[in-house]
Amino acid sequence: MPDPCSICSLLKDVQTSFYKYAAPEYDIPLPPAAARLAIVLTPDLHDPEVYHVRCCPECGTLYTYRFSYEYHTNGSEDEEELSRMSPAEAGAYLRAQARALEALRRDIDALESNAGQWADYLDRGHPSLAEAEAARAAMDGAMENAQRSREQLRGQVEALRTTCPGILTTWAAAHVRVCNAYVDTPTGSDEHTRTVRYVARTTAEAWERLPYEGETFISVAGIWMEGYDERLDAELAPDVTP
Ligand SMILES: [Zn+2]
Repeated sequence: MPDPCSICSLLKDVQTSFYKYAAPEYDIPLPPAAARLAIVLTPDLHDPEVYHVRCCPECGTLYTYRFSYEYHTNGSEDEEELSRMSPAEAGAYLRAQARALEALRRDIDALESNAGQWADYLDRGHPSLAEAEAARAAMDGAMENAQRSREQLRGQVEALRTTCPGILTTWAAAHVRVCNAYVDTPTGSDEHTRTVRYVARTTAEAWERLPYEGETFISVAGIWMEGYDERLDAELAPDVTP
């Protein structure tokens, strides 16, 4: 364990609060340091009053927060529990969230490449007027969906830059490792080696910036880096031990 930071050192591994409605003299609130943790804003945050994850803004340590309520005739009781995730739990959580971001990123890549195929068809496929109209509608639809998903991804990445950069560094570092493997050992035929290296290097550079600034969507040219998605899936697999 690294030295606990100025916030985490004020929190035990498990903190509980207790409130009894009829007897406020017995109330035990969570320590004030608990309120300095950021609530992690992920798309799966459905009922934050009842359950959410918090992240220490100073050191990135993660906590789960649970609220429970019990009804008693002599005064109902509320309890909150804040527990520090173990390194293994935190790693699994970060990878699961990174996988969700990656699924959305791949949707955008697929939609944009689909729109590109319709554009090629319009340019070179000699469509009839009716075919061209249908192709244009399909292309516009794919572009609109891609744009909507890009905005969704931008919102998610920007929210995590402030509340839990660890999810973004986990996601980006997996991409950088995969890209670097293509720089070291390019796939494909020898004539494309330089291109594969160039694509892998520039893609890695974009990923290095993503947790902090700039683009929130990074396209991956799988056509140059064969088997990219499979390698990335292995990096972010649930059972990976970091
Ligand atoms: Zn901390």
